[in-house]
Amino acid sequence: MARRGVCLVISAPSGAGKSTIANALRAADPQLLHSVSVTTRQPRPGETDGVHYHFRTMEQFEQMAAAGDLLEWATVFGRGYGTPRGPVETALASGHDMVFDIDWQGHRQIRAALPEDVVSLFVLPPSLAELERRLRGRASDHAEEIARRMTAARDEIAHWQEFDHVIVNSDLDQAIAEARSILVAARLQTARQQGLPSFIAEFEA
Ligand code: 5GP
Repeated sequence: MARRGVCLVISAPSGAGKSTIANALRAADPQLLHSVSVTTRQPRPGETDGVHYHFRTMEQFEQMAAAGDLLEWATVFGRGYGTPRGPVETALASGHDMVFDIDWQGHRQIRAALPEDVVSLFVLPPSLAELERRLRGRASDHAEEIARRMTAARDEIAHWQEFDHVIVNSDLDQAIAEARSILVAARLQTARQQGLPSFIAEFEA
């Protein structure tokens, strides 16, 4: 029997480096799928529909939520964000691991929906001052947006203890290595094992 995939949920305040970490995990491991969320926010420069997000109107988003097409959804900064259900079910059933870059609200819902599949990880910045410095470095966000994001960051950080693992991103390479270790450990959980040598059948309960 094929093992089910791992749902690796990564959450963090904006600016802590979670997208960079998620991208690095996927670059090193092309088998790792990325859950492409639906959002009602505008694309930022360099973002492509269907790759970074599925960009939709609020009306379309609400229709998807009402039809049960979203595994989880939440409102962040007044905009809708949600995880399309179909690709997740297909990926997990066929044994593919998937990484989710979602917020604490999404983590709670996805853990409730798929309790056996979720392994979660929270990324903390080394300090709040450093987080603000990183947010200021993002050209696409205005001062007002940065102030809003710092408030949102504190709200996100308040949930850090709900996660299975916590990483402090002071050194990006180390943070990536730690995230990779968490994924590898999840894959090696006894309940998920596949492809073990055939003699093991003798030792099954
Ligand atoms: P951004 O607009 O900067 O891409 O994302 C803003 C926040 O929304 C981030 O914390 C991100 O993790 C979260 N987010 C992105 N996609 C989803 C999703 O599908 N569901 C939930 N609950 N949060 C999401």
